[in-house]
Amino acid sequence: SKLRVGLLFGGRSGEHEVSIISAKAIANALSSGENSQKYEVTPFYIQKNGVWQAGETAQQVLTSGKPTENDSQTANLWQFPPQAADIDLWFPVLHGPNGEDGTIQGLLTLMQVPFVGSGVLGSAVGMDKIAMKTAFAQAGIPQVKYKAITRDQIWSNPCIFPKLCDEIEASLGYPCFVKPANLGSSVGIAKVRSRQELEAALDNAASYDRRIIVEAGVVAREVECAVLGNDNPKASVIGEITFNSDFYDYETKYTQGKADLFIPASLPKNIVPKIQELAVKAFLAVDGAGLSRVDFFYVEATGEILINEINTFPGFTSTSMYPQLWEKTGISFTELVDQLIQLAIERHSKLE
Ligand code: ATP
Ligand code: MG
Ligand code: MG
Ligand code: MG
Repeated sequence: SKLRVGLLFGGRSGEHEVSIISAKAIANALSSGENSQKYEVTPFYIQKNGVWQAGETAQQVLTSGKPTENDSQTANLWQFPPQAADIDLWFPVLHGPNGEDGTIQGLLTLMQVPFVGSGVLGSAVGMDKIAMKTAFAQAGIPQVKYKAITRDQIWSNPCIFPKLCDEIEASLGYPCFVKPANLGSSVGIAKVRSRQELEAALDNAASYDRRIIVEAGVVAREVECAVLGNDNPKASVIGEITFNSDFYDYETKYTQGKADLFIPASLPKNIVPKIQELAVKAFLAVDGAGLSRVDFFYVEATGEILINEINTFPGFTSTSMYPQLWEKTGISFTELVDQLIQLAIERHSKLE
């Protein structure tokens, strides 16, 4: 009999829309070729307000690729659709907070059913840029200079705020990047070039998250590597992103034609294995499982490779970097989702 796969998508996140498109692509791949003999997909849609929907509503969102219009229903959030009881394996296709950050992974762990991707620890460490960078530093992976701060330091005491800005200016200089620690898709991120911009960006970032990070800005090419596996993960070919905007911000990411992906990236021969090695190291440093996309800055002038971040559930639409990197490495989209399910089963069996 077929394995009943619960496809979880949407979510209480700024990346809700992307998640639906990723899930649609994955659902297609699960019902094509040999996968259609092995898997039976049941969609579960998490509305923007956190309410779970199954059945026709979920199927309709998946088919249309668009969120439900009326999200006002405030049903009991903990009343899971009855279909959840019949699921053999979960495939959480959620990006950003409340899905890529260990929260859903905790719930699925308690359900004692295998699920695709990183567990609680890997997801949480991979989502929080401060925890992530601590893990990378411990593993000896080169990265930009940064300063971790809290909302409290920005909002609660007007006397310490100017001193905080002085410290940032002295240690990181301009331009620097101000980021909420737990987000994605560049939401809440600002590139700042003056004291005035710094103050405004810190205030804005504090409205998104209790934890904030400020990083020294680098001038570099942006390259990405896909990782697949559990204890012995493999790295893909390297991809590069190019764009004309100031940095890879939300608009550049999601406006058709604003950014270009080059796979494989045109890089010196000796640089490629170095990036792949660092990508695997980063995956293991956060306790990743299944999949991750690891993003780097490549400083052409010096040959330096600096890690930017890891995404434990990267964009997974048919045109996204992650599946395309595997495609060019020799694993098709349909094979990729099959392998991810097999990795989930393997990992689950080792947890017992
Ligand atoms: P994702 O959607 O990949 O999860 P994110 O929201 O986690 O992204 P980052 O990858 O941290 O955000 O930053 C977004 C973009 O901002 C980068 O792709 C890069 O263009 C720019 N950027 C971030 N940090 C730096 C830096 N320290 N120096 C130069 N550019 C940076
Ligand atoms: Mg990210
Ligand atoms: Mg992300
Ligand atoms: Mg990024």
